[in-house]
Amino acid sequence: MKAPARKRLSPKERARIAELFERFSAATADPRTELVFDNPFTLVVAVALSAQATDVQVNKATARLFAVADTPEKMLALGEEGLIPLIASIGLFRTKAKNVIALSRIILEQHGGQTPLTRDALQALPGVGRKTASVVLNELDIEPAVAVDTHVFRVSHRLKLSLAGTPDRVEAELMAVIPQPWLTRAHHWLILHGRYVCTARKPRCMDCPVGDLCPSREGIA
Ligand code: SF4
Repeated sequence: MKAPARKRLSPKERARIAELFERFSAATADPRTELVFDNPFTLVVAVALSAQATDVQVNKATARLFAVADTPEKMLALGEEGLIPLIASIGLFRTKAKNVIALSRIILEQHGGQTPLTRDALQALPGVGRKTASVVLNELDIEPAVAVDTHVFRVSHRLKLSLAGTPDRVEAELMAVIPQPWLTRAHHWLILHGRYVCTARKPRCMDCPVGDLCPSREGIA
């Protein structure tokens, strides 16, 4: 895999960023997705279902779904009509059901039933965009990637890891400044930090484990 291009940082900034991730690592050594999955196929499906839905909502639905369909064959046998009632509690469920059935068919017909685990092949699946592919590849330790969701975007801005205006640009800048050893887990740390500490409306700056390293602390505390 090609290593991401690095950005030249001042020694002070390099030390600040390294310390940020040292602390995240000390708090949660091996963070993983909160989505429940059993195999690469169920991971792809869970991540695809999670767009505009919480992990809790997705896990509730997939507990029922994966009990009856945890392979592309079983998912195809279930069909859209069988799938829809099981995921109807999740936003955009009709479109997602169509995509899950279509991607199951492609995995079966074009990949011999094995979920393809390269970025290009994943992104060629219906309903699988760059962010979904990044989450899958990163979670399975295949390729370090920082999928930029709303939490990662906000926390990156507040911690001044990136001030870019689009998720793609933030992703590129994060990949260029986060120290290599932390790249695989950075995505999870930033999400967890955004979900539980650096929340959108009321960041918990007083309890923040990286508050002394955060340029935004005083402004919004
Ligand atoms: S100090 Fe406040 S704004 Fe900065 S990362 Fe922590 S919670 Fe977020």
